[in-house]
Amino acid sequence: MHALITGVTGQDGAYLSALLLGEGYQVTGTSPRRSSDNSNLRRLMEVGALENHKFKYDTMDVTCASSVDAMITSQHFDVIYNLAAQSYVAESFVSPLATTQINYNGVLNLLESIKKFSRETRFYQASTSEMFGLVDCEAQNEDTKFHPRSPYGVAKCAAHYAVQNYREAYGMYACSGILFNHESPHRGIEFVTRKITDGVAKIVSKQRMDISLGTLDSQRDWGHARDYVRGMHMMMTQDRPEDFVIATGVTHSVRDVLEIAFSHVGLDYRDYVEQDARYMRPSDVPILCGDPSKARSKLGWEPTVDFEDMIKEMVDFDLFRHNVDPLKYFLTGGSADAAANR
Ligand code: GDP
Repeated sequence: MHALITGVTGQDGAYLSALLLGEGYQVTGTSPRRSSDNSNLRRLMEVGALENHKFKYDTMDVTCASSVDAMITSQHFDVIYNLAAQSYVAESFVSPLATTQINYNGVLNLLESIKKFSRETRFYQASTSEMFGLVDCEAQNEDTKFHPRSPYGVAKCAAHYAVQNYREAYGMYACSGILFNHESPHRGIEFVTRKITDGVAKIVSKQRMDISLGTLDSQRDWGHARDYVRGMHMMMTQDRPEDFVIATGVTHSVRDVLEIAFSHVGLDYRDYVEQDARYMRPSDVPILCGDPSKARSKLGWEPTVDFEDMIKEMVDFDLFRHNVDPLKYFLTGGSADAAANR
């Protein structure tokens, strides 16, 4: 089996590559360009994908139809996972058109190319809980109406409907995974969980004194990315294409992330966090909580990582990245100097 993963250099691309390679797939992973120092391949290196002979890294720009057509006609893909996106909600307010270009037009380019050249190829679209936006029910499932609150959410809704339309109009195996927020040590630094865990590690290693954040009241259903890419793969190996919500069903606030991350290193977040209007959004999503019942019953999917363990894992990874050995740090009663991992 041969899989194409767009946006392969991101968090989910790395975990999905590792999963599929482990299942014996050949994986071609793409991003729009190769950075001169290969730093964008860091995650793929860390999960061991780069050294696997069945993994190939290539360039493709989903916003350019000829680039997409060239890739899809150059070899046969059994499945395409579209993870390419401008994935940062705050940035979408600054660049709504560029966000739409990637997050919606890019999806159309892929769907059109599959329709024209490779109708049997299965297509996965990375839909998102941000499509629900302003919610008026306790838990969101596949039937909950969308009320996006950002250009990011709007573009993702459009792409979601396009996938549904190609499935109905052309009988394509195309489906969307409506994934709630999913994190890990490989999460981008601009997302709030990783911003906090990286900030904690920088405070411990005395590189900074505090963290500036926006609202601490937002609540999200945060799961672990490794669990969530497993859900993607399960969706793509069903008899019939269907959309699924992937979530834990448990909600926490930004304040809860702070509480766990700081107390893990023996500190009180109230001494280190300041609020900064720069990180407030013109319209935000106050609360999300997913209902993964369908994924549970039809796919047999279950989350395996507890929220608190995930945040602690992220802090530990970030301590390592900032040259503090977490084990020595805890054994020496919280001395970053004694635990310096140099
Ligand atoms: P999102 O749900 O995809 O927008 O994921 P994020 O991790 O970017 O944001 C989750 C929530 O945390 C949002 O409601 C943000 O407004 C809130 N938040 C508060 N402070 C910050 C911050 O400094 N950075 C980010 N990214 N989010 C923040």
